[in-house]
Amino acid sequence: MYLGTIVELGDTAAVFETPRHPYTRSLLAAVPRIGGPRVTLDFALEGEPPSPRDVPSGCRFRTRCPLVQDVCAVEEPRLREVDGRAVACHFA
Ligand code: SF4
Repeated sequence: MYLGTIVELGDTAAVFETPRHPYTRSLLAAVPRIGGPRVTLDFALEGEPPSPRDVPSGCRFRTRCPLVQDVCAVEEPRLREVDGRAVACHFA
């Protein structure tokens, strides 16, 4: 979940092995693990979460997302099936 909305939903093992949403990927990359992280990032997550009382238009994660595009500001991504799980990202 990010700012009160589900961003990825699916089988636990599948989500942990191959997260599809950028926020899920950043969360799992931050989990300490002996031998190194299970998930690695090719981007840096920056900034702070916005206030839940003033959420961004479109995708709530867009102010911190390294993959953000113009559509992300005007259209809220709905959960859709991606690789057998539900992901709320236009580009998952
Ligand atoms: S919809 Fe856009 S801003 Fe939101 S997670 Fe996907 S790429 Fe990032």
